[in-house]
Amino acid sequence: MSTATTSSLVTHPRIVERLVQGQATSDGAGVKLTRVLTQNLQRRLDPFLMLDTFGSDAASDYIGGFPDHPHRGFETVTYMLEGRMRHKDSAGHEGLLTPGSVQWMTAGRGVIHSEMPEQQEGRMEGFQLWLNLPAKSKMREPWYRDIRPEEIPVWRGEGAEAGVTAHVIAGTTHGVSGAMQREDTEPLYLDLHFAPGATFEQPLPAAHNAFVYVYRGELQVGETAVRRQRMAILANTAGGDGVRLAAGVEGTEGARAILIAGRPLNEPIAQYGPFVMNTNEEIFRAVEDFRAGRLA
Ligand code: FE
Repeated sequence: MSTATTSSLVTHPRIVERLVQGQATSDGAGVKLTRVLTQNLQRRLDPFLMLDTFGSDAASDYIGGFPDHPHRGFETVTYMLEGRMRHKDSAGHEGLLTPGSVQWMTAGRGVIHSEMPEQQEGRMEGFQLWLNLPAKSKMREPWYRDIRPEEIPVWRGEGAEAGVTAHVIAGTTHGVSGAMQREDTEPLYLDLHFAPGATFEQPLPAAHNAFVYVYRGELQVGETAVRRQRMAILANTAGGDGVRLAAGVEGTEGARAILIAGRPLNEPIAQYGPFVMNTNEEIFRAVEDFRAGRLA
């Protein structure tokens, strides 16, 4: 029973502005995935540029992987739930993503990398989020970090929030600082696990853009039920001070979702495939640099 309301962190919760169903697509060498945050939502969800989800038990859906390809101008955040993926890049970095781990890569002025499954069978499931860089940082030196599962802080709810566990990938929740912090965009990235009927509150600055993607069970956000495989865009209502999430009481599985929020950059966005800059001129230069081998 959730009766303790005196310690509420959120008094004016945001409502759901819009529910989005992802689009089935494929990328890399034929990897099947669902693009949830698509290009037409980049302004609305600034500083986030893309969210892909992948999940399959069929090797044919993922075995081709993502052979060598470039990136410039933003960060990629890959979160593995199941499966193993090896990455290598042109700067000589190499690492293995295992279940529960995160790879945070700042492409900066450019890298060429590959992301290949290191399994012939079994389940592969996870997310890839693209986080924009401010204009001043788009041409910075590339950087990356492999974050092992045990390096991701876990918060466990008590009292009114008993039954909720948060894996804090980025940002801060309930005083627990995540594995990553970013100054310009202040991203919050939580993987939330709910027991049936459990509730969770997260303060959010009103100007930050925020969304929830449910990947198991169902969540209630205000009056809106958010079903599995749906993204709920949270309204930036004036005076809104956060979000309140509640798992349905039905079933025994509970719910799982990622909650993502960040401070918008409010800068022009020019994208051509794996290059995201501020102007078309910078995009032409990125393509030229790539063709001339200057990204490696
Ligand atoms: Fe990539």
